[in-house]
Amino acid sequence: MLAVDGGAPLLAEGEAAPWPHITDADRKAVLDALEQATPWHWPMRTVTGLEEAWSEFTGMPHVLAANSGTAALHMAVAAAGVEPGDEVLVPADTFLASASCVLQANAIPVFVDTDPVTFTLDPALIEERITDRTRAVVAVDLNGLPADHDALRAIADRRGLVLIEDASQAHGATYKGRPVGSLGTMSGASLNGSKTLSALGEGGLFATRDEEQHRLARRVLMFGEELPGQSRDYNARIMGWNYRIDVLAAAFARSQLTRLEEMSLVRQANGAALTRALDGVPGIRTPAVPEDRTHVYFFYPLLVQPEELGLDGLPVAAFRDALARAVNAEGLGIMRWQPQPVPGQTLFRELRGYGRGCPWSCGHARPGHHYDPAQYPVSEDVCLRRLVLGQSFSSFGPPNDAATMHRYAEVLYKVLVEEREALIALTRRTAAAAR
Ligand SMILES: *Cc1c(COP(=O)(O)O)cnc(C)c1O
Repeated sequence: MLAVDGGAPLLAEGEAAPWPHITDADRKAVLDALEQATPWHWPMRTVTGLEEAWSEFTGMPHVLAANSGTAALHMAVAAAGVEPGDEVLVPADTFLASASCVLQANAIPVFVDTDPVTFTLDPALIEERITDRTRAVVAVDLNGLPADHDALRAIADRRGLVLIEDASQAHGATYKGRPVGSLGTMSGASLNGSKTLSALGEGGLFATRDEEQHRLARRVLMFGEELPGQSRDYNARIMGWNYRIDVLAAAFARSQLTRLEEMSLVRQANGAALTRALDGVPGIRTPAVPEDRTHVYFFYPLLVQPEELGLDGLPVAAFRDALARAVNAEGLGIMRWQPQPVPGQTLFRELRGYGRGCPWSCGHARPGHHYDPAQYPVSEDVCLRRLVLGQSFSSFGPPNDAATMHRYAEVLYKVLVEEREALIALTRRTAAAAR
């Protein structure tokens, strides 16, 4: 019997280890940082150590540690020379910060629909959204899978755009052998506790190949000041923020980074094992991985396909919610993520921005910008059908292994195959309750 109907849950509490995976080396790194961090003096050795390590990992010569991925992305947009009213292309299906980083620079996000297989920016839809105000593209490596960076790079170069990589969900993945974080002209990545490279708390990483972009990003990071040498002149040249990372978060992330490569191999193998185990289970579509890239499964997205169970007459949403309830009740963490394309959020749909319609209404933008999620049918369908495993609640990272994945698969098999009639009944009840 389904656990949601009173049966015994299939997974015991603690069967899947949470993310991040904390070792004694991480504990020691944080304690060492405590010893070294006093008296306060910027930049801390721990912080520059993290920057150097990410530079080495990605091959990007200039790295700045920041206090969130949101901050790192804002730094990248500003360092791209994006000015008020300029336009930046962003995917319609992503986390808010991939788009709000553009607003933070008083510029205008212009959304582009995503590819139905990779869930990343569809290169074929980019050019029709380019105008004479377009300055940059934010390519997001969503779920743990790199975007199609070569195709995006070709368009960006031809049209004179800066390609910014949002690497927040895919540290450790590769595209044609090149590491995530090095695939754009610049990259911004999150170190939020849930991410594949985790600071346990909050953090971010900005990276660039270009010295001038590095200088511009650093001004945004530290109060708009230039830091020419040892002495600080306390003269803000531009509007800046305090985006410095917490030293203990930096120490934790630095320690995790030493194991990122091996942890990514485990993640890849785990995701592939689950996909194999779910082969032939109807009602869900498992994620695809193009041969030229690796997937590190920050999220393992499942798109529900009630049509395959002959449930054409019932709303997709009712099946999705019934499946999520049933799977969670069995002890496997699954959830909806981004219930709608980003342009559907009130901030955009009602052009709220900073208030009084800025930056759209402040005189610098081309008139006529408006946002309607229905303009992004692939993203809308993905948002309707998507449930995700992964992140912290059903982690694909170590110490979880192929045996753990087998247990994840058993839950989905129980709910979708063995107890299909009960799931269909639950779907009908869910649909009736929603009416
Ligand atoms: C997490 C995330 C961010 C923001 O990072 P924070 O560190 O939470 O500010 C940006 N983009 C994507 C795709 C993310 O998943």
